Amino acid sequence: MPQVIRARLMGFCMGVRRAVEMAMEAAEAGGRVYTLGPLIHNPQVLDSLANLGVGVLEEEALLGPALNQGKLRGATVLIRAHGVSPGIEARLREAGAFIKDATCPRVKANQIKARALSEGGCRLFLAGEKRHAEIIGIQGYAPSCRVVADPVEAAEAAAELFREAGGARTALLGQTTMSVEEYRAIGEEIRLKFPDLVMVDAICGASRDRQDALTELCAQVEAVIIAGGRESANTRRLLSIAQSLGKPAWLAESADDLIDEIRAYSRVGLSAGASSPDWVIEAIERRIQCLG
Ligand code: SF4
Repeated sequence: MPQVIRARLMGFCMGVRRAVEMAMEAAEAGGRVYTLGPLIHNPQVLDSLANLGVGVLEEEALLGPALNQGKLRGATVLIRAHGVSPGIEARLREAGAFIKDATCPRVKANQIKARALSEGGCRLFLAGEKRHAEIIGIQGYAPSCRVVADPVEAAEAAAELFREAGGARTALLGQTTMSVEEYRAIGEEIRLKFPDLVMVDAICGASRDRQDALTELCAQVEAVIIAGGRESANTRRLLSIAQSLGKPAWLAESADDLIDEIRAYSRVGLSAGASSPDWVIEAIERRIQCLG
């Protein structure tokens, strides 16, 4: 029977755990409940919420007939950990919805900083993926900010601003899940034009901490299982880290995904992406221990 060794840190991060708990509480309180977009990248959690009657409302619907038909009047709408723009919150209130705000406190802090810097006359750069919900939400707090995905775009945006307003006060904020190295590289490019750039401490360590714990785990085991959704970027990143360290590694969305090959190993490591609930991780662990 394989021995299972768990990573010292894995699974839900603080912001996701809080959002899932708030959604469950809202569902149990009764009434019509929606999340604004799928709450997390995990099919089991989404199924559990759907079974509790929680619907998913797409942001585009806020611009369309759902509002006109009064669908949201008196309903509870939960804002997920990525947060939304103040404009979307205003639309929800206008529609008569009761807002339950599960924006991760780290994301909320960045939203507030973006507004304060922008209103204080700073020219703001925002490092991250242009179409990511977190970035779109923060843009709502600082509409004139320049979104840059990588150091090349940062250099272009800085050169453009330099032509327009050389010597301006500038600041850099970033998507919480960006790597510290990438964030620093973006900041260095902007500093070539704006040496006094203020770099806000915007990055969350949750993903990095899970990656470091997995690296330690790989030194102690023969093979690795990563629990998590296939759509989850941080889960796939964990899988590639284990593989790059030379370990046979597999991704499992549920215990049913485990394959027989695991029987061949006596010490199996277990880690999980930031959107994997404890009960799925535990079910996978029990199933591995039953393989004999
Ligand atoms: S990764 Fe960090 S910022 Fe994002 S939800 Fe989790 S705790 Fe919050």
